[in-house]
Amino acid sequence: MDYPVITKPKLDEFRVRPNLEEYHRSVQGFTWEQLRGELDGLPGGGLNLAHEAIDRHAHSDRRDRVALYWEGTGGEEERYTFAKLKELTDRFANVLKGLGVKKGDRVFLFMERIPELYVAFFGILKAGAIAGPLFSAFGPDPVKDRLLDSGAKVLIVTPDLRKRIGGILQSLPELKHVIVVNKNNRSKEPLAPGDISYEKEMASASSNFQIVKTTEDDFSIMHYTSGTTGKPKGAVHAHKAALQHMATGRWVLDLHDDDMYWCTADPGWVTGTSYGMSAPWTNGVSQVVYEGGFRASTWYHIIQKYRVTVWYTAPTAIRMLMRAGDEIPKRYDLTSLRYMCSVGEPLNPEAIMWGLRTIKLPFHDNWWQTETGAILIANYPAMDIRPGSMGRPIPGIEAAVVDEKGKQAKPGQEGDLAIRPGWPSMFRTYWHNQEMYDSKFKNGWYITGDRARTDEDGYFWFIGRADDVINTAGHLVGPFEVESALIEHPAVAEAGVIGKPDPVAMEVVKAFVALHAGYEPTDALRADIMRFVRQKLAAGIAPREIEFVDSLPKTRSGKIMRRLLKARELGLPEGDTSTLEED
Ligand code: ATP
Ligand code: MG
Repeated sequence: MDYPVITKPKLDEFRVRPNLEEYHRSVQGFTWEQLRGELDGLPGGGLNLAHEAIDRHAHSDRRDRVALYWEGTGGEEERYTFAKLKELTDRFANVLKGLGVKKGDRVFLFMERIPELYVAFFGILKAGAIAGPLFSAFGPDPVKDRLLDSGAKVLIVTPDLRKRIGGILQSLPELKHVIVVNKNNRSKEPLAPGDISYEKEMASASSNFQIVKTTEDDFSIMHYTSGTTGKPKGAVHAHKAALQHMATGRWVLDLHDDDMYWCTADPGWVTGTSYGMSAPWTNGVSQVVYEGGFRASTWYHIIQKYRVTVWYTAPTAIRMLMRAGDEIPKRYDLTSLRYMCSVGEPLNPEAIMWGLRTIKLPFHDNWWQTETGAILIANYPAMDIRPGSMGRPIPGIEAAVVDEKGKQAKPGQEGDLAIRPGWPSMFRTYWHNQEMYDSKFKNGWYITGDRARTDEDGYFWFIGRADDVINTAGHLVGPFEVESALIEHPAVAEAGVIGKPDPVAMEVVKAFVALHAGYEPTDALRADIMRFVRQKLAAGIAPREIEFVDSLPKTRSGKIMRRLLKARELGLPEGDTSTLEED
């Protein structure tokens, strides 16, 4: 696949303001220690993310800057300055203290994207507890699994979600308190017996709180992984991650003081906390949070209305925007945008081309995982974009492609994507599963579970998750390459590719394809798509079979679940489907 490199000089046209100076300063002999001074630290020593993201700004000339512009599903608008957030999070920390919450306790959040979610989250950190945000679309079982596994002591919910999970609360012996946030009196029903009213407690709580002293290595947040490859794991993070969130906010997201930032990820997933809370706010930057879900016209409306300048989203969302058509964006003024990034899945080159065509900006892909806590590999503002590549490691990160013995592969050779342990935002354990945690570290490397290769210039290219790589007639095929070729066909909206067992070739490549509106799933179209991809890919790699589907199974964080396509194909049990998105 030949895509033009999007070169640096052109970046001026894209209104990116690469922080080149800072970038170059930082890569030369950079150590994380050098940046340490840019965090405030707690008065009297220690480190706490809530102080770095909120309190330090409330004590500075940024105090009256709007940190959070909120737009509700019903069009409600609210604004919160850093000073206001400090006051509210202090109050909530006092509420938790009053309930006996102590350092290290797990306090979980199960709410829609409302401001109180942000207030509660940082209040938890101030109280020294570990915050566990859960995605609001979960049903009772996934919520129960996570609350049981983490031994959560307090749960903060909204009335609708409280109702949805009412049946599980009896089976959680460690859960002591349920706090209900009745945003703007949306619910008229009385509280269930024993539940605590957020509004009532907040009204009487003191607005002064001294942050519980935490060190940089104390646990701050736990996130269950997306469940794409199996049962979700509870990755636990420490306050030190703030350092890397701040740095990558500048280096990768190119955040500047006057930006209006929008991260579309929900705080139930790691992107929604690391980059929907920590990165913008440790940099003191304003952001917008939209409560509702995906709708192409609404998303463009949000960009137009809030004059969003920096936008961080995900490949699935971009593919949905592409699917909604090029006419809709024309109706909106999107000229405030100057920089766009993507994470979560490989970003098909076609999506970058679409951005250039319709928004006149490229998407900058970057790679990381729940476990890594922050971006590790990225297409920076300061470098050429090679469409289809995840970019290069950020300063202070040693990434490599290694073989089973930990030996580094030569450029072009495929292997395990590995990271030298010790980066600031590295996860510290899998909750209650230290053994699995230890198993991820081999020969002095953290093994990510992804397969990749590098090129001569040190760019990293994603091949696939180790579990998804297909072995067909002696070729190792990454599904991403095949899927990217498929979605270049004008009829194809989405594609998921698996290896189907075959007596001769070991596996053959099979593609599941969802079509754009207006296309019929005919044999003629199938043959046409087949012809189209064969021209793009080596013969052995092109799919042998194409099956049309209405949509692909995805996790709730929007990732294609190839293991499910495969299980269904083979008639095998589906395994853990707690994060499967329902149609
Ligand atoms: P689980 O670990 O439960 O199977 P998951 O790996 O999807 O789920 P996350 O931590 O949310 O959970 O996702 C990280 C993974 O997403 C990465 O390991 C990688 O496979 C994929 N990924 C993220 N960003 C990119 C990217 N830019 N390019 C390619 N793959 C990416
Ligand atoms: Mg994973």
